[in-house]
Amino acid sequence: MPTLLPRPSILSIEPYVGGESKIPGVNRIIKLSSNEGAFGVPPGAQAAYAKLAAELHRYPDGGSTALRQAIAQRYGLDAERIVCGNGSDELIGHIIMAYGGEGTELVMSAHGFVMYDIAGRYAGCRIIKVPERNLTADVDALLAAVGPRTRLMFLANPNNPTGSILPQSEIERLRAGLREDVLLVLDSAYAEYVTRPDYDPGVALVEAGTNTIMTRTFSKVFGLGGVRLGWTYAPPHITDVLNRVRGPFNVNAPAMAAGIAALAEHGWVERSVAHNSEWRAKLSDGLQAAGITVHPSEGNFILADFGTAERAKGADAALKARGLIVRAMGSYSLPQCLRITIGTAEECSMVLDALTGFMRGTA
Ligand SMILES: *Cc1c(COP(=O)(O)O)cnc(C)c1O
Repeated sequence: MPTLLPRPSILSIEPYVGGESKIPGVNRIIKLSSNEGAFGVPPGAQAAYAKLAAELHRYPDGGSTALRQAIAQRYGLDAERIVCGNGSDELIGHIIMAYGGEGTELVMSAHGFVMYDIAGRYAGCRIIKVPERNLTADVDALLAAVGPRTRLMFLANPNNPTGSILPQSEIERLRAGLREDVLLVLDSAYAEYVTRPDYDPGVALVEAGTNTIMTRTFSKVFGLGGVRLGWTYAPPHITDVLNRVRGPFNVNAPAMAAGIAALAEHGWVERSVAHNSEWRAKLSDGLQAAGITVHPSEGNFILADFGTAERAKGADAALKARGLIVRAMGSYSLPQCLRITIGTAEECSMVLDALTGFMRGTA
């Protein structure tokens, strides 16, 4: 045993396991395991990224000014309240380190996004996981879990991996039921995919109060997971805190250029969302016709429930045999499920084919 040890909570972290990207012996693989956008990288973002190659000796703009302005313009926000980060994961970590820590509690729903647990333990928070109803966050249970030491509550809306969403009225009821000194973090990584008219990714609550923050990402609909780009929208006093603790050059220059270009890509989000809605429905209906339970999803993925862990494993193997990689859900305590990203029409059809065949074979 080395005598040099990290703080005890660090060793309670289960290292993050990303979506797989290889199958031994299979050349043509189709990766549907990380909710990356179906259409790849926007062409304008590729060009902007490449153009920066000859400028890489320069430090980036530490304030991400042009990117913040582009985001603010697109979404009708105040650029002064935006902080950009090296993926929203970085910002989630800073939020927790700044407001949580030893002796505090972080509340999340049982199948909430795993980064809250990892970053929470890193900071030394006690993590409280609250049971859900039908794989959906339960506002009453979340509120009941809040204690005097609670400083942070995380909610992804829509949630990954369940795809479930809470209506705006429930989010408002959640905020109204929380103490003023509890920070509510609304993670809206999949906001663009939501087509419900009453949906608000968190802007209204951020602007209405002093203790709600919204996180967003370029990793999903904008197809930029590889450059690591995310942002927060928060009240000024929280924005000030994040600007103190983040690295001075936490967003790299080509990532900023790619992000600005992705925002400007004409029709990109509209086309992506239309495709997603169409194929999410087709895939869900097709899988259900084959006898698989599919949970309703508002994201660019679906959660397919095979009833038992053994059957989910068999389904995963049937998909892998055709080069299709999806996400096993053991780490989310859902071993009977597979999470499947909505890919291209051809990719979705291949998934449907493989799983229909699998269900026939096991019936
Ligand atoms: C994918 C995802 C993110 C995005 O993380 P980045 O670090 O921006 O790539 C954040 N939250 C949830 C719930 C996600 O599914």
